[in-house]
Amino acid sequence: MAQRNTWQRERVRTALSDARGFVSAQDLHATLRDDNTGIGLATVYRALATLAAAGDADQLQSPDGEAIYRACSSEGHHHHLICRSCGLTVEIQATDVEQWAHRTAAANGFTRAEHVVDIFGLCAACSAAETTPVDTNSAERDGA
Ligand SMILES: [Zn+2]
Ligand SMILES: [Zn+2]
Ligand SMILES: [Zn+2]
Repeated sequence: MAQRNTWQRERVRTALSDARGFVSAQDLHATLRDDNTGIGLATVYRALATLAAAGDADQLQSPDGEAIYRACSSEGHHHHLICRSCGLTVEIQATDVEQWAHRTAAANGFTRAEHVVDIFGLCAACSAAETTPVDTNSAERDGA
């Protein structure tokens, strides 16, 4: 039994590593189902929770309030820039944020403070694609 759980967790870990950016449990479950692994959604949730607790995966909330996960390449505390459109994720250090969080916590008498700061937006490529005028559409409209 223990061995079977380990195998499933390792399979989930591999799928997470192969993902481009942050993914939800449902996303990973869909990938694993396509690979015919027979791993259920509840098992994916459990495996992700275990990986996050062990520090092997980053967990954060998407703007929609969904828990999303990533196998991070950075060790230790860090932040993310995440593209809302294509899922591109950049791991960043944020010295300003560390200093501000420490100062603000201390000023209010808080100790053992932790914080989660991630930036969701459109990456450079997606921003460029969005602002590029689509000439074919307007040409069609003008012709009609
Ligand atoms: Zn990360
Ligand atoms: Zn993008
Ligand atoms: Zn930080």
